Amino acid sequence: MTEQPSRRLLLVHAHPDDESINNGATMARYAAEGAQVTLVTCTLGERGEVIPPELRHLTGAALGRHRLGELTAAMRALGVGDVRLLGGPGRYADSGMMGLPDNGDPGCFWQADVDEAAALLVGVIREVRPQVLVTYDDNGGYGHPDHIQAHRVAMRAAELAAEEGCPVDRVYWNRVPRSAGERAFARLHDDLPGLPFAEAATLDDVPGVVADERITARITADGTPYAAAKAAAMRAHATQITVAEPYFVLSNELAQPLFTTEYYELAGAAAPAAAPLTDLFAGIAETVA
Ligand SMILES: [Zn+2]
Repeated sequence: MTEQPSRRLLLVHAHPDDESINNGATMARYAAEGAQVTLVTCTLGERGEVIPPELRHLTGAALGRHRLGELTAAMRALGVGDVRLLGGPGRYADSGMMGLPDNGDPGCFWQADVDEAAALLVGVIREVRPQVLVTYDDNGGYGHPDHIQAHRVAMRAAELAAEEGCPVDRVYWNRVPRSAGERAFARLHDDLPGLPFAEAATLDDVPGVVADERITARITADGTPYAAAKAAAMRAHATQITVAEPYFVLSNELAQPLFTTEYYELAGAAAPAAAPLTDLFAGIAETVA
């Protein structure tokens, strides 16, 4: 039996690009430190809007295939070798934005049976034995059906895995503390005239913003190779993201900060942390799976 790294991190995301935007610096850091980093992406994001005009002919399955290629390139930029599509590529279709008729398609992730999808994820947990699982909060960060479903599936999988004797020690949700968000947008407004973007988003457009005291952990990568790796990974998702560091736009073309510090809230924490941890694994006994 081959021995696994002693620290193992599992991230569960809805679409290709979510991992780089939310956790790119964290993934790059732990991969470089020799931890096992496993990404499970639930859909191929084939209903995403495409930014570059020359790629707008890509829709549906063709866009899904293209985005899988972007995801592979992004993982290369982050130094992460283990990426899987939940149930295999195409098992779950992108559900589209909340309220669209696509949400009702029988094959879409929003219509998936949570226990069935969670069982597929438990298979990964059983194999990888992660101590730490990262996903979204119960609103999926911002209400996209696939993000909400990714949360439900990840939380249910953690529950089922614990029941069968391979518990995950810690589940974190992706967050942005309000004060850091406000500072970043103030700087964005100052910088906007010099940027290749015409308009700015607002803090309300950023997923997962919460009061500062709810932050349990923070991974700071400012000025490190991990910040550069994150930007490179985001650039690899060229159909979805245009980067001009330290800012980027999605298909709405509204500039937003590219956070090189990534923030986490411990799911189910009874009380806020005295001070945010700077290591997602702090205090967890390192075990060989
Ligand atoms: Zn997404």
